[in-house]
Amino acid sequence: MRQVKALGYSPDDVRHLLLTHLDRDHAGGIPDFPNARVHVHRRELDMAVLHRIPAPKGRYVRDQWKHGPEWALYGEGGEDWFGFKGVRALGDREPDILMIPLPGHTLGHCGIAVRTKDKWLLHAGDAYFFHGQLHAKPKMPLVLGMFQRRADMDRTLRIENQERLRTLKAAHSDAVTIFNSHDPVDYEHCRCGQH
Ligand SMILES: [Zn+2]
Repeated sequence: MRQVKALGYSPDDVRHLLLTHLDRDHAGGIPDFPNARVHVHRRELDMAVLHRIPAPKGRYVRDQWKHGPEWALYGEGGEDWFGFKGVRALGDREPDILMIPLPGHTLGHCGIAVRTKDKWLLHAGDAYFFHGQLHAKPKMPLVLGMFQRRADMDRTLRIENQERLRTLKAAHSDAVTIFNSHDPVDYEHCRCGQH
């Protein structure tokens, strides 16, 4: 919320929240914007909110959506985006924001692609945890690797999608900047505008 204010907006101006998934460290800001529509993959809602799919115990915090936000739901399919499939997030009026399923870390995990003036940004959420994982020869600190494995809901899919992101980065780094949720190196790289 402080970052929204720093950009000169009121929290009431925020009408849409696009979430990669509903883990507690990604959904904690939902109640700050109680009137915003919350966009997530359907499978994430089924697990975290509706309990139609069993979720690992303690993984989701129900209080983060107890005010009953309006949900906007996504499935598979959509249009081609650099070999991925993405669904336009905000309807035809704004075709430059796509929700792209990247399951593995959670079953409904998505990346969010945003077209900027000269390049696409892909917020890959927790699809990978460390910038070195997208290098041609992937690198991962040991303990972080253990943490990543413990958080996997579907390891095969997580590894597959990481491989796809690695391929995307190798082939299209001139057109797409990929970053994840937690890596300070990725963050600094984007913040300084050195896409
Ligand atoms: Zn997560």
